[in-house]
Amino acid sequence: MTTSKKIHLLIVEDEAPIRDMIKFSLPAEFVVTEAENTAQAKTCIADRQPDIILLDWMLPGMSGVEFAKALRSATLTKNIPIILLTAKAEEENKIKGFDAGADDYITKPFSPRELIARIRSILKRGPIAYPDEVLVIGDIALNLQKHEVKIKNDILSLTPVNYRLLAFFMKHPNRTYSRDQLLQHVWENALEKTDRVVDVQIKRLRAVLSPYGCSEIIQTVRGSGYKMVQP
Ligand code: CA
Repeated sequence: MTTSKKIHLLIVEDEAPIRDMIKFSLPAEFVVTEAENTAQAKTCIADRQPDIILLDWMLPGMSGVEFAKALRSATLTKNIPIILLTAKAEEENKIKGFDAGADDYITKPFSPRELIARIRSILKRGPIAYPDEVLVIGDIALNLQKHEVKIKNDILSLTPVNYRLLAFFMKHPNRTYSRDQLLQHVWENALEKTDRVVDVQIKRLRAVLSPYGCSEIIQTVRGSGYKMVQP
């Protein structure tokens, strides 16, 4: 919560009547920002970090569930409480919403009183610390939120390309990728790059891992490409 005691609430909802209903029923301690879609919501969040987000499930473009996942995976937004608004009441969707990282879930139509009670109950819990997502293979631990790679408590110094390459392999261990596939997945402007670029970067990545005895983790698969092997 902010020091001014005002609660900054962001509504992401494409239906104006619902936004209005929420806005006009909230007590004066709430400062409300509105977004019609997730693109607008991103701008609002960049301008000012809200204390809580009411997020509609069915939005044009990116859905509320996808957006909730994206917020949870970013360092700056991962701890903002999210209440999903939805017209669907099925259990299965509820689970999907919680998997995406929503803190609560409210089914339309809902009364303003019910909504306010939910908001207060979430804010009363205090800041929720969502753990960072860390991929671990052998001695290598890669923190997806901090973009940090550690081996036995040493923080590795990696270039952005080496970081992305390592993260890609760690997300997909034991699978062989051709140089072309790696270019597509890891490089921006992949079309301008050649296979040689992949070899160079793999070599650099191995050189960083080598002092820790981890360079063998990325194997060359003759005639095919590269793969990361889980020791
Ligand atoms: Ca909607």
